[in-house]
Amino acid sequence: MEKFDVIVIGGGVVGTAVLRSLAAYQAKVLLLEKASDVATGASRANSGIVHAGYDAETGTKKAFFNVKGAAMFPALTKELHVPYKQVGSLVAARETGLPALRVLYDRGVANGVKVEIIDRKRILALEPNVSDQIAYALYAPEAGVVSPYKLTIAQADHAVINGAEIRLEEKVTSLEKREDVFYLSTDKGTYAASYVINAAGAGAAEVNALIGEDAPVQTHAVGDYYILDSKEAGVVNTVVFPLPDEKGKGILVAPTADGNVILGPTSRKIPHEAAEDNEVTRDGLALVREGVGRLIPSVNLRNVIRVYAGTRTAVGNDFIIEESKKYKNYFMLLGICSPGLTSAPAIGEYVAGQAAAALGLVKKQQTIPLPDRFHLTKASEEEIKQKVASDPTFGRIVCRCEKVTEGEILAAIRSPLPARTVDAVKRRVRAGMGRCQGGFCRPRVMEILSREFGIPLSAVRLGDKGSEIAPYEVKDGYEKI
Ligand SMILES: Cc1cc2nc3c(=O)[nH]c(=O)nc-3n(C[C@H](O)[C@H](O)[C@H](O)COP(=O)(O)OP(=O)(O)OC[C@H]3O[C@@H](n4cnc5c(N)ncnc54)[C@H](O)[C@@H]3O)c2cc1C
Repeated sequence: MEKFDVIVIGGGVVGTAVLRSLAAYQAKVLLLEKASDVATGASRANSGIVHAGYDAETGTKKAFFNVKGAAMFPALTKELHVPYKQVGSLVAARETGLPALRVLYDRGVANGVKVEIIDRKRILALEPNVSDQIAYALYAPEAGVVSPYKLTIAQADHAVINGAEIRLEEKVTSLEKREDVFYLSTDKGTYAASYVINAAGAGAAEVNALIGEDAPVQTHAVGDYYILDSKEAGVVNTVVFPLPDEKGKGILVAPTADGNVILGPTSRKIPHEAAEDNEVTRDGLALVREGVGRLIPSVNLRNVIRVYAGTRTAVGNDFIIEESKKYKNYFMLLGICSPGLTSAPAIGEYVAGQAAAALGLVKKQQTIPLPDRFHLTKASEEEIKQKVASDPTFGRIVCRCEKVTEGEILAAIRSPLPARTVDAVKRRVRAGMGRCQGGFCRPRVMEILSREFGIPLSAVRLGDKGSEIAPYEVKDGYEKI
């Protein structure tokens, strides 16, 4: 049986942040993820906002990790080459909303966040398309937008090149502690560890139940979204929220870090059994359209290219980030809902520090930096010429909408945590994320995956097991690249 110093359960933005921080120590560390890739849970489908930190109640873990995490984003995203823009955010209110904005302003100040209340003249200078009804706004210039899945993947890649291991498609199905050692079983093997970190998101209460730790009541709320083509970029410059209500931060309009525009999310309560379905509903989308109309009525819904949904998992009103009182060296991360993405880097650092202190781990003198990749859309003409001369695959466009080359797809497939499915390629290089949504490039991506992994086309998957795209024998009909 393989023995590790630390095992992390769950490969979302939180688990991979913990793993990356652990990889800075001299330790044998492993992350187990039940899906076919990291970033397939809440960390895949969210708003991608790096919240400034005025929303969380002062004194809570949410407020502490949000503010600390947000401050880490500029340097972290630069180091990991992840799309991030500090665009600022506005909570837009009508004339009658001023007292509610003052409450947020006071909380922001108490949390140590840069905030100000601005009038319509200043709002229009930032957001010329805002509704006529908007009179005041809370402006937080340090809020930003990030690609949540690219951050999760980059954290995973960085951990792997620094010696951490990630095993995909391994669901933890049993967990027990005998003497000072934890024993974990998955559908593929059994492992031993001195320290275990439960970062299983919507599955965290079930993991707790495996070991006999309290499994607190989790509540789940789906958020529906529209995503708009990059043609619509410029309809907003900042993240525009309405005033928050008892359901959450409300339906926003925001630029994404990759140049699209998102509208949403709703907040529809669903039972635990449906927590991983992520189904968009017609009624949910109608609520999004209504909410957007109140903020930025000129948004052109003809530029919608996709709808999607993500599910938040909460436990009460705050994050649970603590060591079990029953089982020493068993650390729990439960109810990491919004602002969990923003908080993740700070949570990762804190939890890795707790494990390191408990096990007496020593920090490495230095870690290996994550190399940047070639992106056709970001390269100069001279860089493109040189790249294509050294490797002609970088001269072959596979995704026409997003201008992604075969070379970039191959780099994603051969990355430290290899992309094994069509969706895993898409999350890494955006092939299939443009206006045609993969209509043109999907068969070509499938063919590259089939060739690289030496598997038949019929075995190429969209994502998890059972998602084979063309599961029957295909004639030699695909155009060869
Ligand atoms: C609609 C929506 C909007 C949001 N907007 C924002 C935002 O703008 N800004 C922000 O800061 N936060 C936002 N959040 C919150 C943020 O997305 C989450 O806090 C964050 O993604 C949680 O990350 P995680 O790693 O805890 O969970 P997840 O990403 O869900 O990862 C948990 C992982 O554990 C795996 N797993 C579960 N059980 C097992 C098991 N038994 N064995 C192995 N693996 C297992 C799952 O497959 C999953 O990959 C939003 C969330 C949603 C849903």
